[in-house]
Amino acid sequence: MKTDVQVAVIGGGIVGASVLYWLAKLGWTDTVLLERRELTSGSTWHAAGNTTYFGPYPKMTALFAGSIRTYLQAQEETGQSVGFHETGSLRLAATERELELFHVYAPRYEAMRIPFHIRSPEEVAALHPFIDVGAIHGAAHTPTDGHVDPTGATTALAQAARQLGASIERHTPVGAISKTGNKWVLETVHGVVTADHVVVATSFWAREMLQPLGLNLPIYPTQHHEIITENLPEIAALDKELPSMRDSWVSCNVRQERDGLLIGIYEKEPEFWALDGIPPDFKEELLPPNLDPLMPHLERLMERMPLFAKAGIKVANNGPMCLTPDGLPLIGPLPSMEGLWLATGFNVGIGTGGGSAEILANWMVTGRPPKGLDAIHADRFGNDIGRDEATRSIRHVYARGYHLPDHI
Ligand SMILES: Cc1cc2nc3c(=O)[nH]c(=O)nc-3n(C[C@H](O)[C@H](O)[C@H](O)COP(=O)(O)OP(=O)(O)OC[C@H]3O[C@@H](n4cnc5c(N)ncnc54)[C@H](O)[C@@H]3O)c2cc1C
Repeated sequence: MKTDVQVAVIGGGIVGASVLYWLAKLGWTDTVLLERRELTSGSTWHAAGNTTYFGPYPKMTALFAGSIRTYLQAQEETGQSVGFHETGSLRLAATERELELFHVYAPRYEAMRIPFHIRSPEEVAALHPFIDVGAIHGAAHTPTDGHVDPTGATTALAQAARQLGASIERHTPVGAISKTGNKWVLETVHGVVTADHVVVATSFWAREMLQPLGLNLPIYPTQHHEIITENLPEIAALDKELPSMRDSWVSCNVRQERDGLLIGIYEKEPEFWALDGIPPDFKEELLPPNLDPLMPHLERLMERMPLFAKAGIKVANNGPMCLTPDGLPLIGPLPSMEGLWLATGFNVGIGTGGGSAEILANWMVTGRPPKGLDAIHADRFGNDIGRDEATRSIRHVYARGYHLPDHI
């Protein structure tokens, strides 16, 4: 194991692997990634892998586009498939106002050179025959996005980083973190690692990990469900994969999974998990499903996509998912913690991990913060936001699901 490095990355989910990869691409290969268990063993292994280019903020859309680009690049460099399905996505206009907003966004996509079309209800029906378009006003269609295999993508990133000279140590949990002189000191079960820079990519573990340094990160895990249906003959009969669908009225996303449907719900009454501390023996586990709070959403989905009413539920996965009070990740350095960088707080880490890591790695290598991305800066909440305030905001952000901001 390397014991003195330029950069130690802690956490081997999609985000940590992406950071290690981008640092190596930019020439920083005196690096080691330290992972408590296996790569992907936090939230990454059970994620649906959805990644859409739709969104109100171009800078955030660029992170999504940068992520797909990063994963495909790692695939190209290693031969390891990232399982990208370019199905495209439909973001339904459940209201007239949503359709108006889509027209506001359209020129921004043109400027980014990302295909973006506004579809009429009839066109939506042609693209996705199972959506009942009777009550929608149209949709925004981003035909070049889709979904990836999160484990395949993490593996490709890790392999590509290793090829460039980076190291990865699995089964190496980091315990105490301290600073001596200019060096960060990380205690692990295999001995001490010292580093000029440390990147904390440990998702919801980061809060407890950094508390001994006097840091108070407002990140907490919510429970998040994804439902997979039995195979449906109507889907098996299709000659091409369905586009993903996102709908603020149902507050869900739906994509094709083999010959069935995979549904992610943002329910009105989200539950937190492990608010008093992550159980130390938590492994690659799921939480007991609780479908009752999802029922009003599933009933709406039966209206929006009547095929769903015919489908048996095969799996209901409930996994912990990290959130910050505004739903955006914490990226970058912290005041008076020179050499300590955050890459945590991701709730769409598959969608934005690769692109965010590119931003962070450039920031570390050049010393210059990215332009126009104050919204994701690691220090934006200060250090004294209390648990009640943070969890209240997280609940609000989660429950808003796919609602669009009304300002333009
Ligand atoms: C049901 C469900 C579906 C989802 N679907 C999607 C989706 O479709 N699209 C999307 O973009 N996002 C989705 N997400 C969210 C996504 O899973 C996360 O945003 C993403 O996986 C976060 O990646 P990460 O690398 O930040 O964290 P993680 O994958 O949790 O990785 C953190 C790593 O840090 C390690 N670690 C922790 N403590 C230590 C320590 N002390 N020392 C060393 N290592 C440590 C952990 O073992 C873990 O491997 C979904 C989440 C859930 C729950």
